[in-house]
Amino acid sequence: MKGQIPLEELQAQAQQCRACPLWEGRTNLVFGVGNPHARVLIVGEAPGKNEDEQGEPFVGAAGKNLNALLELAGLVREDVYIANVLKCRPPGNRDPQPLEIEACTPFLREQTRTISPDFIVTLGNFATKFILKTDRGITGLHGRLQQAGRFKVFPVYHPAAAIYDRSKQAALEEDFRTLGKLLGA
Ligand code: SF4
Repeated sequence: MKGQIPLEELQAQAQQCRACPLWEGRTNLVFGVGNPHARVLIVGEAPGKNEDEQGEPFVGAAGKNLNALLELAGLVREDVYIANVLKCRPPGNRDPQPLEIEACTPFLREQTRTISPDFIVTLGNFATKFILKTDRGITGLHGRLQQAGRFKVFPVYHPAAAIYDRSKQAALEEDFRTLGKLLGA
């Protein structure tokens, strides 16, 4: 089995990456942040405006919501590692394109191998479809524990999508409470 690549080395590689056109528009690469030995890896979609400016995932309103949700699972940001499917911001926050996902996900794959979490929490459709290799949407999958190889995968709605949608927010809160129980089991 291939050895694990240290996160710093992967980040340095990503910093040089020009494998898709998104590098041209980025202010900062958003590689990922958190506990390198986390039991829980959180996977989002792509950097937004605030993330691109600050070089960190989930720093705006969606980040605040994520922090509150983590608390419902008995977690704080320092417990988890947070990364996105794409490391550079798509213009105008449009959806990731298939070629961008193909070009960028080797980084996420290696991050996952290095961190080696017990649980991967996928936020929204893009992360869920990539990790589970499924066409099923998040509406039918959220809050249901799945397995991908040796990882337990727990899909939930994206916290940004739930900010203005009370039913999604309620589902997210319920799902993070469930996650807390699964972590304690
Ligand atoms: S989005 Fe990913 S693949 Fe595209 S340039 Fe950025 S790091 Fe490279």
